[in-house]
Amino acid sequence: MKQAFLCLVAMYLGFASTKGQSVDVELVERNSEESTTSSEQAVADDGSRVSILGYHVFHKTKEETPMLISTARFRKQMELIKSTGIPVITLAQFLAWRRGEGEIPPQSILITMDDGWRSVYSEAFPIMKELRLPFTIFLYKNYVGANRGGRAMSLNMIKEMLKSGLCSIGSHSVSHPFPSDVKKQVAAGAEAFEKFLRIEMEQSKVFLDEKFQTQVTTYAYPGGYHTPEMHVMADKVGYDHLFTVEPGKVRRNSSKYALPRYIVFGNNNQAFEAALSFKNGNFSPPLLPVELPHPTSPNPNDLVANRLPEISANLHKLANLDPESLVMRVAGFGKVPAIFDPTSRTIRWKVNRPLRQPVCSVTLQWKLIDQEEYENPMKWTFRIDRSANYQSR
Ligand SMILES: [Zn+2]
Repeated sequence: MKQAFLCLVAMYLGFASTKGQSVDVELVERNSEESTTSSEQAVADDGSRVSILGYHVFHKTKEETPMLISTARFRKQMELIKSTGIPVITLAQFLAWRRGEGEIPPQSILITMDDGWRSVYSEAFPIMKELRLPFTIFLYKNYVGANRGGRAMSLNMIKEMLKSGLCSIGSHSVSHPFPSDVKKQVAAGAEAFEKFLRIEMEQSKVFLDEKFQTQVTTYAYPGGYHTPEMHVMADKVGYDHLFTVEPGKVRRNSSKYALPRYIVFGNNNQAFEAALSFKNGNFSPPLLPVELPHPTSPNPNDLVANRLPEISANLHKLANLDPESLVMRVAGFGKVPAIFDPTSRTIRWKVNRPLRQPVCSVTLQWKLIDQEEYENPMKWTFRIDRSANYQSR
């Protein structure tokens, strides 16, 4: 997993350094409209938008990290995509659209997985097969079939996925150089840097084309880091679409050298939800179901019309709850004077000032009798329907 962390660090560094500042990778959406350079022959914007999702490692039981998503959470995300009806397109459809040779729906999704982890084959692929969802893997040459303690995919695994018709491949360099390595090469001078880039970008393509009898034209920058020299080299060696780790929607005329992707962190749904929310239309996707240990009102993610709702949680399952220890916090109100009813085992508070934000979050904390420490807080959010102007009581 050390490698996974390095890759993530690189991702952050890469993002931060292209922007010259440290920014939250998930929350900043780039404006892809301004990114087409004059040397590019871009096809005009047709209004369609594509969200590209990026994943790395999958695992059934390990604790989730930004790089590692649980198989169960991944499945839920894929099922949610299915339920929204937003089409998941193939890399070929995406490229044909970008080249002006094909059309796609106004909103669609492209799914990508970086590096070539074995869990792509063992965890993700069965789900993609079951749900018939196409995906693209960005492989770096030195990892393909390298085993690495059983963490890398074998050639046969990759071939089997390609044969399914669901999987496409793109390049992710030869050695997966991190931004710090790239910067060392830049410091070595223009000639050395060009040689370095030619190896990383060209040899990876040659290798993949030959091993998998394909014609790779896409490249995902390791760590998302890229320089103008890489754009020049891309033209020389035959890449026409290059992907970063900056979130945002792809337009038909977005710069081919810096296509945005939503890297989905394994330990939260933020980037995933941002990817599924499209502004070119009225579509707003259902949120992922949230499971709380105790029933609440409003329920997590509920849309309430009343701006003065009663917030409550039923804690009857906690036999040895210490009612004195209960603390309810509501965003914008801080700690609130909620009342616990020992008969119904319910804690309640009625909002006493109209909620004005689109989302309201609640945190509930308690101790068990004879316990020093608080239990893990229960947190949830619900939504306020701001189009409902009235205040029902
Ligand atoms: Zn990578």
